[in-house]
Formats: sequence, C-alpha cells, structure tokens
Amino acid sequence: MPGKKIIITIDGWSSCGKSTLAKRLAKELGYVYVDSGAMYRAITLYFIRNNVDIENKTEINEALRNINLEFVVNSGAQRSEMFLNGENVEYLIRDLLIAEKVSDVAAIREVREFAVAQQQKMGKKKGIVMDGRDIGTVVFPKAELKIFMTADNTVRVERRFKELYAKNPNITIEEVKNNLEMRDYIDSHREISPLRKAGDALELDNTHLTEDQQFRKALEWAQLRKKK
Ligand code: C5P
Repeated sequence: MPGKKIIITIDGWSSCGKSTLAKRLAKELGYVYVDSGAMYRAITLYFIRNNVDIENKTEINEALRNINLEFVVNSGAQRSEMFLNGENVEYLIRDLLIAEKVSDVAAIREVREFAVAQQQKMGKKKGIVMDGRDIGTVVFPKAELKIFMTADNTVRVERRFKELYAKNPNITIEEVKNNLEMRDYIDSHREISPLRKAGDALELDNTHLTEDQQFRKALEWAQLRKKK
C-alpha cells in the first residue's frame, strides 16, 4: 500500500484481541509486529526461575543486566517468537503461572525502563504495529495512529478461557476471570505508566464485532493516517 510509513499503537485491557488485530494489520501493511506483553512475560519467567526478589532493587538490576530479549521470526508458523537468552520461551510465557505474576513485575520502574528503551529502538524506522498497555501514552506518544481496544468482560474471559483451556484442560473459568480482573486492576492503578486511553486514541469496542469487521475498521484508519 502506498503512503508514508507510520507507527500504529494498540493498547487496551487484557484479552481484548489486541494481538490478533495487530498481527493482521502488520501483515496487510508489510509492517513489523511487536508484542510488548511478551517482553514483560519473558522478564517475569526469568525472575521466577532465578528467584528474583521484586522488592530488592539490587537483585532486579542484576537480573536485568543478564536478560537478553529477542523476537525471532518462525517462518514456518509465520510469526515471531520470544527468545529469552537464546531460548525460545514463546510457549512457556503464555502459561497462567506467568500471567499471575507479570503485572507485579511490569509495575517495577526499572523493568519498564528496560523494556521501553528496547521498544522505542524497534520503532525508529517506523512501519511498526506494537500492542500493549502504554504504547500510545509512553512508548510512542507521537504515533500517527493510536487504537484503544475494549470489550465486554464476559466476552474477554470466554476468549481467554478457550485459548488457555486448549493447552490445559484443568484450568477453570474462575481462574481465568480472576486473573484478568487482577491484571486489569494492577495495570490501570500502577504508579508508572498505568493503562489508560491516550487523549488522541481511537476507541475500538469489539464486543459485537467479528475479527474481519475490526480489521477493516482499523485498516481504514491506518490508510487515512498514511495519507496525511
Ligand atoms: O499483553 P499481555 O496480556 O501479554 O501482557 C501481559 C502483561 O504485561 C500485562 O498484564 C501487563 O501487566 C504487562 N504489560 C505492560 N505494558 C505493556 C504490555 C504488557 O505493563 N506495554
């Protein structure tokens, strides 16, 4: 598609379908897709494995010095996967065990500075779609297109439950619901870069929209911004 290269940010509540939309948009536009949540999840996995005390700044800084995050394209699966110090952790970081701890880890100032610096580097050349919680507010406050996604709680819980249940049939809908509510609460109440809609973000409520409908809407917005 002709037009200038832009930065597209997609923020919103947990399990709103941000990554599904972001991936599809990036593919259509020939842009890079970055799942910023995967970075916080990988850092959390490292912290758990190494018993990092999240109240101890020295331990946190030491741990961050030993963390190398990389997105590696898996051409077979047509997606990029998260690598932590050379290990593919894409599957591991989707576990509920990680989801239970990630919001506390992501609330730490040093962790955010570490992740945000890398995210900003990835956007230097534009032509990027990044999803997360603070992408339009903090990471790319000047992004040409900012989307804020929302959806009904029940719909979000059902969607995430289906995803997690496919991997682990022992999981209950209650566990998933509690985790979503807890993460949304911590993410929107933390002191540093809390989840909120940027003043210039366009809201996309997908409770009653199909994946195709949301995609077409977002693509239309992107086409308009690319022309400006
Ligand atoms: O997007 P995902 O649900 O994988 O993100 C996992 C967690 O990472 C979120 O609940 C949030 O605590 C944190 N996160 C964040 N800022 C981002 C992306 C994710 O704090 N930009």
